[in-house]
Amino acid sequence: MLILVLNAGSSSLKFNLLDMATEETLADGIAERIGMSEGFVRWTIQGEKGRLELDMNGHKKALATIMEQLQKTVLTGERKVQAVGHRVVHGGPNFGEPEKITPAVLAEIEELVFYAPLHNPACASGIRTAQELFPGVPQVAVFDTAFHHSMPDYAYTYGLPYELSQKLGLRRYGFHGTSHRYVADRTALLLGQHLETLKIVTCHLGNGSSITAVKHGRSKDTSMGMTPVEGVIMGTRCGNVDAGVLTTVMEQEGLDAKGLSNLLNKKSGLLGISGVSSDCREIEEAMGKNKQAHLAFEVLCYGVLKHIGGYAAAMNGVDAITFTAGIGENSSAVRSWVCKRLSFLGVKLDEDLNTRRSKADRLISTPDSTVKVAVIPTNEELMIARETLRLTAK
Ligand code: ADP
Repeated sequence: MLILVLNAGSSSLKFNLLDMATEETLADGIAERIGMSEGFVRWTIQGEKGRLELDMNGHKKALATIMEQLQKTVLTGERKVQAVGHRVVHGGPNFGEPEKITPAVLAEIEELVFYAPLHNPACASGIRTAQELFPGVPQVAVFDTAFHHSMPDYAYTYGLPYELSQKLGLRRYGFHGTSHRYVADRTALLLGQHLETLKIVTCHLGNGSSITAVKHGRSKDTSMGMTPVEGVIMGTRCGNVDAGVLTTVMEQEGLDAKGLSNLLNKKSGLLGISGVSSDCREIEEAMGKNKQAHLAFEVLCYGVLKHIGGYAAAMNGVDAITFTAGIGENSSAVRSWVCKRLSFLGVKLDEDLNTRRSKADRLISTPDSTVKVAVIPTNEELMIARETLRLTAK
């Protein structure tokens, strides 16, 4: 079965085409600058890279362009897209599982724009576009928030008036659920143990970062909240900030809600502290001679450290710590900074293994480390394709 996985952003559309007989990725790529000038689509199809410069006025033009390339190469003869899986950022309080898309499900995704004003309208537009281009082909929505539905109420409740929280749905939902679930599964495989017996802290550290306590295969707590701004500092997002700071900044700088949101989402985090870059690689390159870059690096690492410590307490123990996503998979410096400070838990990092480059799932702790440390490349697209297959094969 051939499954197309789509991840629609406000000005981008990522795609992956997977053959589920082998779980092999036949093609992937991205259309960028949709609705802007200087748009382009780039792809890798069966190992061959390609790129096309063209302006796209919406997701429809982007997807049609992607399909043209696929039809010239992999989708020939009888080979057709048999199901489409969509990454949907916010599933709100009701979606705790992936859903086959019906008119009612699509309407509810559109209603959730309140929680994710940037993301959910784009996801809905991606779904409508795919429905137009693939009439009759089953479509599935896989929610970033769904894995965290197992959090207990004391982990997701904010210290705000209860009635207000109930009225507006103010609570922690968590994100990157597909990734946390995937790497937790892979960690259990790597350790040769059942997921249901393990306590794992999964650290998804990329441009957006979140950390999750996965106890016996279920999310018990996670660092992101109602929106993806909460938690550790990120590329340009601030992570945890005293709420009192926000009212002060609004008053002192004369910011309205939009201005404040822009500050917290686009100008903070690694970029805001360092003044150098939102990109962790560039921070690491600069930090030898730039104090603010060094500070940004340490604020990120310290945030990760505190979450791991907190989640070890929340789960009454920890068997494994897993790093994933751009920073988690590639930054031996971040992993080393954090793990050195976890010796009280019995974490012992093998620095040689930590600095060795590899794309494979791997352990980087010493054999006598009581807590295992793993690096697992995430694969959200494969997870979305598996869920799409599961729901459409029924
Ligand atoms: P996204 O959240 O957009 O999917 P990624 O998971 O691709 O992002 O992560 C991007 C981040 O990973 C960037 O901050 C980038 O600098 C960082 N990164 C990638 N490679 C390295 C590396 N070798 N060392 C440190 N950071 C890296």
